[in-house]
Amino acid sequence: MGSYERPAALGAALEALEAGARSGRPPVIVAGATDHYPTRVGRVVDEDVLDVSGLVGMRGLHPIAGGWWIPSAVTWTELVEARLPAAFDGLKRAARAVGGLQIQNRGTVVGNVCNASPAADGMPNLLALDAIVELASVRGTRRLPIGEFVTGNRTTLREPDELVTGVFVPDAGESATSTFVKLGSRAYLVISIAMVAAVVARDRAGRITSARVAVGACSPVAQRLPDLEAALGGRPLRPGLGELVRDEHLASLSPIDDVRASAEYRRRAALVLVRRTLEELAAGAAEAG
Ligand SMILES: Cc1cc2nc3c(=O)[nH]c(=O)nc-3n(C[C@H](O)[C@H](O)[C@H](O)COP(=O)(O)OP(=O)(O)OC[C@H]3O[C@@H](n4cnc5c(N)ncnc54)[C@H](O)[C@@H]3O)c2cc1C
Repeated sequence: MGSYERPAALGAALEALEAGARSGRPPVIVAGATDHYPTRVGRVVDEDVLDVSGLVGMRGLHPIAGGWWIPSAVTWTELVEARLPAAFDGLKRAARAVGGLQIQNRGTVVGNVCNASPAADGMPNLLALDAIVELASVRGTRRLPIGEFVTGNRTTLREPDELVTGVFVPDAGESATSTFVKLGSRAYLVISIAMVAAVVARDRAGRITSARVAVGACSPVAQRLPDLEAALGGRPLRPGLGELVRDEHLASLSPIDDVRASAEYRRRAALVLVRRTLEELAAGAAEAG
């Protein structure tokens, strides 16, 4: 049986990580443990566990210079309940789709990112929000764009002595709206077959000034669609916008066949979901006037 530590001070957590990394046996970090435990059911586990859920100062999503700070212990429920600009509506919708309420009460946004599942519902939204991950160790802190931090299926650039302290989301501007569309085999408590998040800003004339669109569960890491984003620039944000989306815009995706869906189904679903996402944002803009 390994050791279990739940420090209150960040410094103590970083020292525990450094000592573990130096000895060649870094502790496994857990926050809500909702990804951690299901992968260990029925296994003899002797790893050392560093529980970061008790770290002081790691709760409470709040504004900071130039944007918003999501500290490492912020749960999906806290995110849903926070007063946030419309650019976060997509991430909030994803939060409501992560498991059931019990999972949302324990599971963290940062845990979702660090677990690096291709089907992590937070990832497309955080990519579309241009989020930045902050890592700390006794050596100092560093920041990485989220798209660089997650490198593949269950792999990230985190070093064994590093802890993710939170995620910074730059201000997307007052006009920015967002949404998230998820496809699963049923409406709730389901792992995504494909999902799409978009954050779109517009000028006073209703023309798109910036569009960020990301697809999840159709490649090892959720992906932005830069060609589509470029094609959307300058277009009026109004119904019919989805017709602009072509197969070529999704060419960089590499969906797989698995128990949930075939690669071909995922590719077609992603196209439909991207169109729906844009139509939803256009309908919202039309309603707002
Ligand atoms: C029944 C059920 C349903 C689920 N449904 C969904 C769903 O619909 N969509 C979805 O996306 N996910 C789902 N999940 C997965 C999970 O709940 C989420 O990914 C959740 O956000 C994970 O957060 P956590 O705090 O529990 O992570 P943990 O399990 O504590 O950690 C996850 C990983 O991140 C690492 N980690 C955590 N915090 C840090 C940190 N601060 N620094 C460095 N590494 C860290 C851990 O070492 C671990 O590798 C579900 C899980 C269950 C059990």
